[in-house]
Amino acid sequence: MSLLELKELKAKVEDKEILKGLNLNINKGEVHVIMGPNGAGKSTLASVLVGHPKYEISGGDIIFDGEEINDLAVDERAQKGMFLSFQYPEEIPGLTVEDFLRAAKEAVSGEKQYFMQFHQELVEKMERLHIDPTYADRHLNVGFSGGEKKKNEILQMAVLEPKLAILDETDSGLDRDATKIVFEGVQKLKNDNNALLIITHYNKVLDYLKPDFVHILMDGRIVKSGGIELVEYIEKNGYQKMKEELGL
Ligand code: ADP
Ligand code: MG
Ligand code: MG
Repeated sequence: MSLLELKELKAKVEDKEILKGLNLNINKGEVHVIMGPNGAGKSTLASVLVGHPKYEISGGDIIFDGEEINDLAVDERAQKGMFLSFQYPEEIPGLTVEDFLRAAKEAVSGEKQYFMQFHQELVEKMERLHIDPTYADRHLNVGFSGGEKKKNEILQMAVLEPKLAILDETDSGLDRDATKIVFEGVQKLKNDNNALLIITHYNKVLDYLKPDFVHILMDGRIVKSGGIELVEYIEKNGYQKMKEELGL
Protein backbone atom coordinates (compact mmCIF):
# COMPACT_ATOMS: atom_id res chain seq x y z
CA MET A 1 0.00 0.00 0.00
CA SER A 2 1.20 3.50 -0.80
CA LEU A 3 2.02 5.82 2.04
CA LEU A 4 1.05 8.87 0.00
CA GLU A 5 -0.97 8.91 -3.16
CA LEU A 6 -1.89 12.09 -5.01
CA LYS A 7 -4.57 11.63 -7.61
CA GLU A 8 -5.09 14.44 -10.11
CA LEU A 9 -4.55 16.93 -7.30
CA LYS A 10 -5.62 20.47 -8.07
CA ALA A 11 -5.22 23.40 -5.72
CA LYS A 12 -5.86 27.12 -5.69
CA VAL A 13 -4.48 30.01 -3.78
CA GLU A 14 -6.41 33.27 -3.86
CA ASP A 15 -8.56 31.89 -6.68
CA LYS A 16 -5.60 31.14 -8.89
CA GLU A 17 -5.10 27.52 -9.84
CA ILE A 18 -1.52 26.50 -9.07
CA LEU A 19 -1.61 22.72 -8.96
CA LYS A 20 -3.27 21.47 -12.11
CA GLY A 21 -3.70 17.73 -11.78
CA LEU A 22 -0.71 16.31 -9.99
CA ASN A 23 -0.11 12.58 -9.62
CA LEU A 24 2.43 11.08 -7.26
CA ASN A 25 2.88 7.82 -5.43
CA ILE A 26 5.21 7.37 -2.47
CA ASN A 27 5.79 4.06 -0.68
CA LYS A 28 7.30 3.49 2.73
CA GLY A 29 11.07 3.33 2.63
CA GLU A 30 11.41 5.65 -0.36
CA VAL A 31 13.14 8.99 -0.84
CA HIS A 32 11.56 11.24 -3.46
CA VAL A 33 13.02 14.48 -4.73
CA ILE A 34 10.96 17.15 -6.47
CA MET A 35 12.72 19.74 -8.58
CA GLY A 36 11.33 22.44 -10.78
CA PRO A 37 11.70 26.03 -11.91
CA ASN A 38 10.75 28.96 -9.69
CA GLY A 39 7.02 29.41 -9.45
CA ALA A 40 6.22 25.86 -10.62
CA GLY A 41 4.15 25.14 -7.52
CA LYS A 42 6.61 23.20 -5.35
CA SER A 43 6.01 25.12 -2.14
CA THR A 44 2.30 25.18 -2.91
CA LEU A 45 2.41 21.39 -3.03
CA ALA A 46 4.16 21.23 0.35
CA SER A 47 1.59 23.61 1.85
CA VAL A 48 -1.35 21.72 0.39
CA LEU A 49 0.03 18.42 1.67
CA VAL A 50 0.24 19.60 5.25
CA GLY A 51 -3.11 21.36 5.07
CA HIS A 52 -2.20 25.04 5.09
CA PRO A 53 -5.57 26.83 5.32
CA LYS A 54 -4.69 29.38 2.67
CA TYR A 55 -4.62 26.72 -0.05
CA GLU A 56 -7.83 25.24 -1.35
CA ILE A 57 -8.03 21.80 -2.91
CA SER A 58 -10.12 22.26 -6.03
CA GLY A 59 -9.93 18.72 -7.38
CA GLY A 60 -8.49 15.27 -6.86
CA ASP A 61 -7.45 13.53 -3.69
CA ILE A 62 -4.69 13.22 -1.15
CA ILE A 63 -4.59 9.68 0.19
CA PHE A 64 -2.32 9.21 3.19
CA ASP A 65 -1.79 5.80 4.72
CA GLY A 66 -4.93 4.52 3.00
CA GLU A 67 -7.19 7.37 4.01
CA GLU A 68 -8.42 10.40 2.06
CA ILE A 69 -7.27 13.41 4.06
CA ASN A 70 -8.31 16.32 1.81
CA ASP A 71 -10.27 18.03 4.57
CA LEU A 72 -8.08 17.32 7.58
CA ALA A 73 -6.51 20.22 9.46
CA VAL A 74 -2.77 20.72 9.92
CA ASP A 75 -2.66 19.24 13.42
CA GLU A 76 -4.73 16.22 12.41
CA ARG A 77 -2.33 15.50 9.56
CA ALA A 78 0.61 15.83 11.94
CA GLN A 79 -1.03 13.34 14.29
CA LYS A 80 -1.36 10.92 11.38
CA GLY A 81 2.36 11.16 10.78
CA MET A 82 2.91 13.92 8.27
CA PHE A 83 5.68 16.36 8.96
CA LEU A 84 6.50 19.77 7.66
CA SER A 85 8.76 21.53 10.08
CA PHE A 86 7.07 24.21 12.07
CA GLN A 87 8.96 27.36 11.33
CA TYR A 88 8.88 29.77 14.21
CA PRO A 89 10.57 32.78 12.74
CA GLU A 90 10.05 34.83 15.85
CA GLU A 91 12.46 34.57 18.74
CA ILE A 92 10.92 33.15 21.89
CA PRO A 93 13.03 34.11 24.90
CA GLY A 94 12.28 31.78 27.80
CA LEU A 95 11.35 28.79 25.66
CA THR A 96 14.25 26.45 25.11
CA VAL A 97 14.63 24.21 22.08
CA GLU A 98 14.07 21.24 24.38
CA ASP A 99 10.83 22.68 25.84
CA PHE A 100 9.61 23.38 22.33
CA LEU A 101 10.40 19.88 21.08
CA ARG A 102 8.78 18.25 24.11
CA ALA A 103 5.59 20.28 23.61
CA ALA A 104 5.54 19.41 19.90
CA LYS A 105 5.95 15.70 20.71
CA GLU A 106 3.08 15.83 23.22
CA ALA A 107 0.85 17.61 20.71
CA VAL A 108 1.55 15.16 17.91
CA SER A 109 1.63 11.90 19.86
CA GLY A 110 -1.11 12.82 22.35
CA GLU A 111 1.09 11.33 25.08
CA LYS A 112 2.63 13.05 28.05
CA GLN A 113 6.41 13.32 27.70
CA TYR A 114 8.24 12.95 30.99
CA PHE A 115 11.12 15.33 31.43
CA MET A 116 13.93 12.93 32.32
CA GLN A 117 13.10 10.30 29.73
CA PHE A 118 12.53 12.87 27.01
CA HIS A 119 15.81 14.55 27.87
CA GLN A 120 17.70 11.26 27.73
CA GLU A 121 16.27 10.38 24.34
CA LEU A 122 16.91 13.86 23.00
CA VAL A 123 20.56 13.75 24.02
CA GLU A 124 20.96 10.42 22.22
CA LYS A 125 19.30 11.79 19.10
CA MET A 126 21.51 14.88 19.10
CA GLU A 127 24.62 12.75 19.40
CA ARG A 128 23.52 10.60 16.51
CA LEU A 129 22.87 13.70 14.39
CA HIS A 130 26.13 15.40 15.41
CA ILE A 131 24.31 18.33 16.96
CA ASP A 132 26.04 19.92 19.95
CA PRO A 133 23.94 19.03 23.06
CA THR A 134 24.14 22.59 24.41
CA TYR A 135 21.89 23.52 21.50
CA ALA A 136 18.89 22.03 23.38
CA ASP A 137 19.29 24.65 26.11
CA ARG A 138 19.32 27.62 23.76
CA HIS A 139 16.25 29.80 23.67
CA LEU A 140 14.17 29.16 20.60
CA ASN A 141 15.52 31.07 17.62
CA VAL A 142 17.18 33.71 19.80
CA GLY A 143 20.26 34.64 17.84
CA PHE A 144 20.02 31.49 15.73
CA SER A 145 21.85 31.41 12.44
CA GLY A 146 20.12 30.00 9.36
CA GLY A 147 21.99 26.74 9.93
CA GLU A 148 20.87 26.50 13.56
CA LYS A 149 17.24 26.97 12.54
CA LYS A 150 17.60 24.12 10.07
CA LYS A 151 19.13 21.90 12.71
CA ASN A 152 15.99 22.53 14.73
CA GLU A 153 14.02 21.25 11.77
CA ILE A 154 16.00 17.99 11.70
CA LEU A 155 15.73 17.57 15.45
CA GLN A 156 11.96 18.05 15.20
CA MET A 157 11.93 15.27 12.66
CA ALA A 158 14.01 13.00 14.92
CA VAL A 159 11.70 13.66 17.87
CA LEU A 160 8.36 13.42 16.09
CA GLU A 161 9.28 10.34 14.02
CA PRO A 162 6.86 11.09 11.18
CA LYS A 163 5.82 8.57 8.55
CA LEU A 164 6.33 11.18 5.86
CA ALA A 165 8.65 14.16 6.16
CA ILE A 166 8.32 16.95 3.63
CA LEU A 167 11.34 19.22 3.43
CA ASP A 168 10.88 22.32 1.31
CA GLU A 169 14.21 23.85 0.39
CA THR A 170 15.70 22.98 3.71
CA ASP A 171 19.03 23.59 2.01
CA SER A 172 18.46 27.18 1.03
CA GLY A 173 20.88 29.52 2.73
CA LEU A 174 23.00 26.77 4.27
CA ASP A 175 26.73 26.64 3.87
CA ARG A 176 28.35 23.38 2.89
CA ASP A 177 29.10 22.17 6.40
CA ALA A 178 25.58 22.86 7.64
CA THR A 179 24.13 21.19 4.53
CA LYS A 180 26.17 18.12 5.35
CA ILE A 181 24.99 17.92 8.97
CA VAL A 182 21.38 18.52 8.05
CA PHE A 183 21.15 16.11 5.13
CA GLU A 184 23.30 13.36 6.59
CA GLY A 185 20.93 13.68 9.55
CA VAL A 186 17.90 13.35 7.30
CA GLN A 187 19.41 10.27 5.66
CA LYS A 188 20.01 8.71 9.11
CA LEU A 189 16.39 9.29 10.10
CA LYS A 190 15.15 7.43 7.11
CA ASN A 191 14.09 3.80 7.61
CA ASP A 192 11.86 1.16 6.01
CA ASN A 193 8.73 2.52 7.67
CA ASN A 194 8.97 6.15 6.69
CA ALA A 195 9.47 8.19 3.56
CA LEU A 196 10.94 11.51 2.55
CA LEU A 197 9.71 14.10 0.08
CA ILE A 198 12.47 16.59 -0.57
CA ILE A 199 11.95 19.75 -2.54
CA THR A 200 15.20 21.27 -3.64
CA HIS A 201 17.10 22.83 -6.45
CA TYR A 202 20.45 22.55 -4.83
CA ASN A 203 22.04 19.42 -6.18
CA LYS A 204 24.74 19.29 -3.48
CA VAL A 205 22.00 17.83 -1.29
CA LEU A 206 22.25 14.75 -3.43
CA ASP A 207 25.78 14.12 -2.16
CA TYR A 208 24.20 13.15 1.15
CA LEU A 209 20.83 11.74 0.18
CA LYS A 210 20.10 8.92 -2.17
CA PRO A 211 16.78 9.51 -3.86
CA ASP A 212 14.87 6.55 -5.25
CA PHE A 213 12.85 8.82 -7.52
CA VAL A 214 13.27 12.30 -8.94
CA HIS A 215 10.27 14.22 -10.23
CA ILE A 216 10.20 17.37 -12.29
CA LEU A 217 7.36 19.72 -11.45
CA MET A 218 6.44 22.35 -14.02
CA ASP A 219 3.38 24.52 -14.21
CA GLY A 220 1.50 22.62 -11.51
CA ARG A 221 2.09 19.10 -12.79
CA ILE A 222 4.73 16.43 -12.54
CA VAL A 223 5.92 16.29 -16.11
CA LYS A 224 8.66 13.70 -15.77
CA SER A 225 9.73 11.12 -13.22
CA GLY A 226 12.90 9.10 -13.16
CA GLY A 227 16.07 8.64 -11.19
CA ILE A 228 19.16 10.67 -10.45
CA GLU A 229 19.85 11.07 -14.17
CA LEU A 230 17.13 13.74 -14.25
CA VAL A 231 19.16 15.88 -11.86
CA GLU A 232 22.14 15.59 -14.19
CA TYR A 233 19.97 16.43 -17.19
CA ILE A 234 18.61 19.58 -15.55
CA GLU A 235 22.05 20.58 -14.39
CA LYS A 236 23.33 20.35 -17.94
CA ASN A 237 20.35 21.55 -19.97
CA GLY A 238 17.96 23.47 -17.74
CA TYR A 239 14.19 23.25 -17.45
CA GLN A 240 13.34 25.04 -20.67
CA LYS A 241 15.06 22.37 -22.76
CA MET A 242 13.18 19.61 -20.96
CA LYS A 243 9.94 21.45 -21.56
CA GLU A 244 10.65 21.65 -25.27
CA GLU A 245 11.60 18.00 -25.47
CA LEU A 246 8.39 17.00 -23.74
CA GLY A 247 6.44 19.20 -26.16
CA LEU A 248 4.97 21.35 -23.39
P1 ADP B 1 7.82 27.25 -6.22
O1 ADP B 1 7.93 26.82 -4.80
O2 ADP B 1 7.84 26.10 -7.18
O3 ADP B 1 8.83 28.29 -6.60
P2 ADP B 1 5.27 28.34 -5.39
O4 ADP B 1 4.43 27.18 -5.03
O5 ADP B 1 5.86 29.12 -4.29
O6 ADP B 1 6.38 27.90 -6.44
O7 ADP B 1 4.40 29.35 -6.28
C1 ADP B 1 3.65 28.95 -7.40
C2 ADP B 1 2.76 30.08 -7.84
O8 ADP B 1 1.76 30.30 -6.85
C3 ADP B 1 3.48 31.40 -8.01
O9 ADP B 1 2.93 32.03 -9.14
C4 ADP B 1 3.14 32.15 -6.74
O10 ADP B 1 3.13 33.53 -6.97
C5 ADP B 1 1.76 31.63 -6.41
N1 ADP B 1 1.51 31.61 -4.96
C6 ADP B 1 2.01 30.71 -4.08
N2 ADP B 1 1.60 30.98 -2.82
C7 ADP B 1 0.84 32.09 -2.90
C8 ADP B 1 0.12 32.87 -1.94
N3 ADP B 1 0.12 32.55 -0.63
N4 ADP B 1 -0.56 33.94 -2.40
C9 ADP B 1 -0.56 34.25 -3.72
N5 ADP B 1 0.08 33.56 -4.67
C10 ADP B 1 0.78 32.49 -4.28
MG1 MG C 1 9.21 27.25 -3.25
MG1 MG D 1 -12.40 14.13 -3.04
